[in-house]
Amino acid sequence: MPSQERMSSFSFTIDEECPETWARAGTIHTAHGSIQTPIFMPVGTQATVKSVSPEELQEAGVAIILANTYHLMLRPGSQLIADFGGLHQFMHWDGPVLTDSGGFQVFSLGHLRKLSEEGVAFKSHLDGSPHLLTPENVMQIEFELGADIILPLDICAAYPCTRDAAREAMERTHRWAERALITRERHQSNQTLFGIVQGAFEPELRQQSARFIGKLPFQGLSIGGLSVGEPKIDMWDLLRYVTPELPKGKPRHLLGVGSPEDLVTGVGLGMDMFDCVLPTRVARHGGLFTRYGRINIKSARYRAEHAAIEESCDCYTCRNYSAAYVHHLARSGEQLYYRLGTIHNLRFMLRLASQLRAAIIGGTYPAFRNNFLAQYMPTSEQVRENQREKWKAARSR
Ligand SMILES: [Zn+2]
Repeated sequence: MPSQERMSSFSFTIDEECPETWARAGTIHTAHGSIQTPIFMPVGTQATVKSVSPEELQEAGVAIILANTYHLMLRPGSQLIADFGGLHQFMHWDGPVLTDSGGFQVFSLGHLRKLSEEGVAFKSHLDGSPHLLTPENVMQIEFELGADIILPLDICAAYPCTRDAAREAMERTHRWAERALITRERHQSNQTLFGIVQGAFEPELRQQSARFIGKLPFQGLSIGGLSVGEPKIDMWDLLRYVTPELPKGKPRHLLGVGSPEDLVTGVGLGMDMFDCVLPTRVARHGGLFTRYGRINIKSARYRAEHAAIEESCDCYTCRNYSAAYVHHLARSGEQLYYRLGTIHNLRFMLRLASQLRAAIIGGTYPAFRNNFLAQYMPTSEQVRENQREKWKAARSR
């Protein structure tokens, strides 16, 4: 599609590759600035990363945010956002933005939606009003939202599902991908369209999907349909089939995945971009990241702690407040807690991403990964067991 390539200011270059794993450090250029990968993208569901301002995002090192098409099309509506000049202007964020296609949210509506070759009909979770998403009108909606990187409508198969259901969802996703590309060409926008790889938990289907979507003129690839309730080890196993089939020169986005340990493991399996509500969501509930694992700031052990949440942390919260004060705010349900907790976790994720990048460039990624995973202790025994499995799996790659 020559015209879109001519108009787009998007590019991706690989700066360094790890010789022992599939990790790579890269640079993505967009019209709203550059992104150094690997990168974590915070989720701004309603055109805001809950409780923090764009200036605070910037200070935490956030380079790109993800916004949800499903939520924004229903409220306030994509046309209204377009009238304000698009998402960047509406929300006062001038860095890069990625919008998802709404597919994942619609498919999680269960009985409220109906699937056909044309698209997916659903009822709004807000007021029950009927809507139809098609590969074509999703392009129109995302065109109005105006994000730098956009995703086409796809089908996330149920978990677990039969092989036939997985194949059907994947094949339809492929047909919809082609329809999205044709529609996008008509819009003549300079937005960057990523393709979505599906195939549920069938290695062969995943390989087939990676090859099919990888050959289409998408400028990047998102891996969809993972982190839907499966054991983490299954997700990493599947990526071992997917990554080798993907074109090397396009950025790879692992949709909806992004705990600290996921980021560290996923990078070694060739992923460049991660997004997840987890870091900001758990922060609001008192879960704060440290290099030794997630702590609960509401715990009595922080009641009189003079030190910061993590003494080596360079975030606004840790530079200015004791753990005891943050503990007090969290226990009292004060508004300021949500902001301070969120800032700390965001900074943790963005610092981790840049440490991963530095390790890849310095040729020390495998050692960095092993040290991080050995130190980072998840809270429960169950989680700890998963962690061990993941670590072993990552090492055996
Ligand atoms: Zn901090």
